[in-house]
This record gives sequence, structure tokens and C-alpha cells, in this order.
Amino acid sequence: MRRAIIGFEKDEEGHWVARLECGHGQHVRHDPPWMVREWVTTVEGRTAWMGRELECSKCDESDGG
Ligand SMILES: [Zn+2]
Repeated sequence: MRRAIIGFEKDEEGHWVARLECGHGQHVRHDPPWMVREWVTTVEGRTAWMGRELECSKCDESDGG
């Protein structure tokens, strides 16, 4: 299920987590060379991603109709 990003926060290990409109969080790690999301390391990049949609697997799992 696609959910819009409403904010960002860091987890206890310092990895970035996108907070989605449904209340779930989704990791958006910048961990090169495997995961390159340099945008998440800057406030400008994160601001640009506000309102964009990510697939929320947690919603898919809990969606019983
Ligand atoms: Zn969700």
C-alpha cells in the first residue's frame, strides 16, 4: 500500500526512518555502495521527499479489508 511521507526521524542506530501518514515507519538507509540515498542525509533532500509515497509493507500485512 502506498503511503505519503509526513516526516523523518532517526532510529537508535542513527539510521533514517521515514514516518508515513499511516503511522508506520520505514527505513531509508544511506549505506553506500549498497543503499545510496544521499538525499536523506541533508535537510534539503528530506524536505524534497516530504509528501512522496513509499510502499508500506506493514499496511499490506495488516490490511484485512
Ligand atoms: Zn503503514
